[in-house]
Amino acid sequence: MRLALQYCPYCGEQDLHPREDPEGAWECADCRSTFVVTAVPAPARGSA
Ligand SMILES: [Zn+2]
Repeated sequence: MRLALQYCPYCGEQDLHPREDPEGAWECADCRSTFVVTAVPAPARGSA
């Protein structure tokens, strides 16, 4: 399942387009940056 990304992490634009390769990659139509969104499990609270 592809994660939805609303804002470009580089320029903040919302004109993002998913790319087929690599998996989970998005391309920003404004700054032409391509980035991959990776899900990271949130750390458990209180377990330090
Ligand atoms: Zn951008």
